[in-house]
Amino acid sequence: MGRAVADEQALAILYDLALTIGSEVNVAPLMLRTLQRLMYHTGLPVGLWLGWPEEGGKTAVLELAIGDYHLIRRKGERLALPQALLAGPPAMLEAAEMLGALQLRKPLGTVLRLPVPGHGVILLLGASAPLTRLSLPELFSPILERLGRSITLCRSYELEVQHRVEQTAYYDPLTGLPNAILFNTTLQQAVVQARATGRWLALVHLDLDDFRPFNEARGSDLGNQVLIALGQRLGASLHPGELLARIAGDEFVLLLPDLGGWEDVDERIVRILQTNRTPLEVAGEVLDLTFSAGIALLPTDSPDGDTLVRHAQIALHQAKQESRGYFRLFDGDQDRRTHARRELLRRLELALVNREFRLFYQPKVDMPSGRVLGFEALLRWFHPEQGMVPPGDFLPVVENSDFIIALGEWVMREALAQAVSWRIAGLETCISINIAGRHLQLPDFPERVRHALADVPGGRAESLEIEILESSVLEDMAHVRDIMRACSAMGIRFALDDFGTGYSSLAYLHQLPASTIKIDQLFVRNLFQHREDPTIIQAVVQIAEVFGRSLVAEGVEDPEHGMLLVAMGCHVGQGYGIGRPMAAEAVLPWVEGYRARREWTALEGLSWHRGLYDLFHLRHDHRQWREQVSGWLASREDGDAAMPPAFDTCGLSEWLMISAPTGASSEIHECFRLLGRLSEQTAQLAALRESQSFDACSECLGALFLASDALLQLLDALAVRLAGGSST
Ligand code: C2E
Ligand code: MG
Ligand code: MG
Repeated sequence: MGRAVADEQALAILYDLALTIGSEVNVAPLMLRTLQRLMYHTGLPVGLWLGWPEEGGKTAVLELAIGDYHLIRRKGERLALPQALLAGPPAMLEAAEMLGALQLRKPLGTVLRLPVPGHGVILLLGASAPLTRLSLPELFSPILERLGRSITLCRSYELEVQHRVEQTAYYDPLTGLPNAILFNTTLQQAVVQARATGRWLALVHLDLDDFRPFNEARGSDLGNQVLIALGQRLGASLHPGELLARIAGDEFVLLLPDLGGWEDVDERIVRILQTNRTPLEVAGEVLDLTFSAGIALLPTDSPDGDTLVRHAQIALHQAKQESRGYFRLFDGDQDRRTHARRELLRRLELALVNREFRLFYQPKVDMPSGRVLGFEALLRWFHPEQGMVPPGDFLPVVENSDFIIALGEWVMREALAQAVSWRIAGLETCISINIAGRHLQLPDFPERVRHALADVPGGRAESLEIEILESSVLEDMAHVRDIMRACSAMGIRFALDDFGTGYSSLAYLHQLPASTIKIDQLFVRNLFQHREDPTIIQAVVQIAEVFGRSLVAEGVEDPEHGMLLVAMGCHVGQGYGIGRPMAAEAVLPWVEGYRARREWTALEGLSWHRGLYDLFHLRHDHRQWREQVSGWLASREDGDAAMPPAFDTCGLSEWLMISAPTGASSEIHECFRLLGRLSEQTAQLAALRESQSFDACSECLGALFLASDALLQLLDALAVRLAGGSST
């Protein structure tokens, strides 16, 4: 071959190879195509590439084998090589030659060995010599060096691409932290490991407080910087093996494996949450941002990863409800309670559909005259299995849900319809309903009342009063006032319920168009337990007078409660001592039979005297003693009840001597006589009981009651005198 021809041929070969090498960016096609071109230019039918998969790798693999050779590498597949190939370059060559010879079914005439720096060796094999006479190893040497560099470049490019794919799949682009996918995989592994080692695993779910309004107010750029800064700060507090991930918007999770128990949990969590103490500084600005955290532990709270995630979320929710910047451990009991509440709410919704609710009615009367002024509708749930459930057992669960609105709408219509049917039966009366704050505050509440009135044929606004709690006004008084005004314009009246238990603010009272104040039953029921209560009632009576509101006292259980209230100027009462809440059918007969109490009528229009309180108190005690005596006698079989309840005359005697009104000496004298008689009768009763003379006992008790009635009447007459009335 002439020199010029040889040069030209060499140049063409090199040009072709350079093109091939330059046009591939991926390793496998680069090797394959280079090998094909080399076989083409040499005319050698078998080409092998013995490579090392990574730099410094000890295991040789047959990266490529082409030509007719049957070991052609399929995509993604690594081929196992004969032992000899692994032993090192000389033996490897021998083995390769052998493989080539087998393939060619002839002895090998040519073995061309072309080292690719850093990446193994190319073997070109054939039975006869190569087509060209050019010195091939020499010719290929620079191009093979270039090939080596190209492979290195392609490998690093491929790694980079692979890395980038991984990054987008597993890492959050903003903070560079692991994302939810990577967190979940890590969590599953951590759970398996925790179970195997018996160590604890803590999952901390963090969420920035009020981040959304911050983002809206300050822009998402600053918001993003906050997230990055928080990620960095939390990341800095991590120990090796712990994981911080950003799983959504402003939500982060921390996975703390390998904890020894409570002490470790405490130590790690306190350390991490201390981050909250120092304000975040972003773009030179100190920000008032905190995060809340919910923590769940394996194995104490949750057996598996999914439950752990859910429990940490619940704990976070609980923490958020408590305050900002707070953290909470998952509380299984609370979770069960929440679950039970949800279940009850669902059941109550069904109860409304199934018509299991009913209204009971409790009368309100003018105590001195006995006039029935109206009824309060009180909700009862008739559960098919549990029977009657009082509102205190289920209302707290629904008060903050929208179901209270549906329930209130039902109550409104039911009460209106009841008023209509009583009117038809001849009872013109007003029904008070209780409306929850959530319902009352709806901007369209007046519209809803209008609809209810329209829905009930014959329904009238005058027969409806709405009782509201002060707490339902607290949030937005101006708004509630407007609603009340709109309803008042329709003729609906309002009462402030449970007055005295909240702020009892005079400002509210002044501004709200409520025509009635209801003194909370606690003040009335406990009148004779706490000496300060009559003062509270007296104050409320004065407030009502000053503000021109009517007054109703709840919790009138005993005659003395009513006596004190009437004497103080509060005439309208509601309570067990007047009438218990009753089914609608029981109302008409009850009204028919109701009569004013003599003790209450007698005190009407008189003036309050401080001495009355003690007298009513003593009267109350005396009546209770009477009841105890009859209870004692009824328990005949009871060996412990051998002695009747002691009769204490001291209190009454003292009052008669010190506080009784002047000019009532004959009544006082008679009272003393009756007290003496009652003492004797009590002793007699004890003796008769001792001797088991039960008939005589009953007779004696009858006489004792007569004396007691006479005593009470005398005391009542003294009360009237004390209040400035005439006792006859
Ligand atoms: P409330 O509006 O203050 O109703 C008075 C409560 O005191 C009633 O209890 C009544 O049965 C009870 N009560 C009346 N007189 C006496 C007495 O002399 N002694 C004692 N110990 N208790 C007396 P109830 O029916 O259990 O209702 C409790 C509360 O549930 C009501 O207090 C009211 O706040 C609420 N409620 C009742 N029905 C409804 C309703 O339909 N809707 C709404 N939102 N709340 C209701
Ligand atoms: Mg009420
Ligand atoms: Mg009340």
